[in-house]
Amino acid sequence: MTADTGAASAAPMKSNDRRLTYEEFERYSRQMIVPGMGKHGQLRLINSRILIIGAGGLGCPAAQYIAGAGVGTIGIVDGDTVEISNLHRQVGHATSRLGWKKVDSLIAHLKDINPLPNYIPHPFHLDPQNAADIITQYDLVMDCTDNPATRYLISDVCVLLRKPLVSAASVQKSGQLIVLNCPPAPQGLVDKKYPPCYRCCFKKPPPPSSMVSCGEAGIMGPVVGMMGVAQAGEAIKIIASALHLPPSSTNDLTAPIPERNLQQPTLLIYTYDLESAVGPYSFRALRMAGRRKNCFACGENSTLTLEGIKTGNPNYVTFCSPPTTDHALPPEDRITASKYHETRARGELPAHLLIDTREKEHFSFGAIDGAINVPFGRFLMNAAAIKRDGGPPDQILPAEAALGDDTPIFVVCRRGLDSQETVEKLKELGVDHGGKRKIMDIVGGMKAWKDEVDPTFPFV
Ligand SMILES: [Zn+2]
Repeated sequence: MTADTGAASAAPMKSNDRRLTYEEFERYSRQMIVPGMGKHGQLRLINSRILIIGAGGLGCPAAQYIAGAGVGTIGIVDGDTVEISNLHRQVGHATSRLGWKKVDSLIAHLKDINPLPNYIPHPFHLDPQNAADIITQYDLVMDCTDNPATRYLISDVCVLLRKPLVSAASVQKSGQLIVLNCPPAPQGLVDKKYPPCYRCCFKKPPPPSSMVSCGEAGIMGPVVGMMGVAQAGEAIKIIASALHLPPSSTNDLTAPIPERNLQQPTLLIYTYDLESAVGPYSFRALRMAGRRKNCFACGENSTLTLEGIKTGNPNYVTFCSPPTTDHALPPEDRITASKYHETRARGELPAHLLIDTREKEHFSFGAIDGAINVPFGRFLMNAAAIKRDGGPPDQILPAEAALGDDTPIFVVCRRGLDSQETVEKLKELGVDHGGKRKIMDIVGGMKAWKDEVDPTFPFV
């Protein structure tokens, strides 16, 4: 063989200018001949350290390609265990590994693909106390998580430690991808030509009512898979082309950033609609602005520090104020699932309307006898229209429910949040006829129904 392969037994050296081992040459030859990669791009991958945060629907496909491409050190952070409902999309796990820690399951799979990288498990969730200590060990971070608080935490730490961040997200039928902080300019060095951080692009988290995780909203495997693969593609490109580094090979991050590395940041959006005809394939690329002068994390007056993050400043949970089940409805407007069931079974409940505000797909798996499906999203739109245009308040109620003025209404949803908002909105619209009609929330929704009344209920 005349190629630059070196001896098969030689231990790889940590240099971007060494010979490849025979196995490395054989394993990576198909990607090394792609224009722009070559031996030097491959060695940069072999000598790099990438951290994948989240071993789920994004992290699994991302990790497969990162491992396959030969990234030398791959860290994986996740505190969860493999569940059967993960497997339709989390392709790095397996039925035979149900109950395993996700990091261990994914690493077992990756070692099968490529035993050469050094795999580092971090079998816990990333939090403000451990984030900097973990992230500092790597050259590039891939955000494959599914909650806003962690996204802001990861981005903030990447700004302070000057790590490029490849961030993706996917819920239900859409996904998005953006490369942030790459190349990583120092905190406070503000110029629009420098790349943004997550906070520059998404100044505020989405409102709590719109925050749903994959478990709540559902998710399509190919959609999240596509975003994870695209994430791997960007990470490989950044490392192999040294797009995150100054022009010299000294890794001196204070050296000027070459113009070619300062490209317009772009947000890739993929949408996929099961209810539409075949195609059109919907990819959109939105051009994003660069660094924001007044950004909380990277802006010129930023007071964000690693020490602050560790000691609870900022408070990521409060900032993202996730929905809680502890809502403001007074106790007289609420009834537990078991009490509703018992009083109804004893015939002590007057004739009433039972509204189930889950989406129709959830409702189709099963519901309480006699419940009428009024999906929450459509309910909110109808409520807004009545408020805007006027009309009798009872118009919001399903037409098939012929009700007297004082017929009580019970509202149930999936976990007991939407139902409370529905009760509030119905009262706001005057559907309670000045207190004549009782409108009650069933506490904890169909989850509570399953826990308290019917353990066989197919709750999804
Ligand atoms: Zn910023």
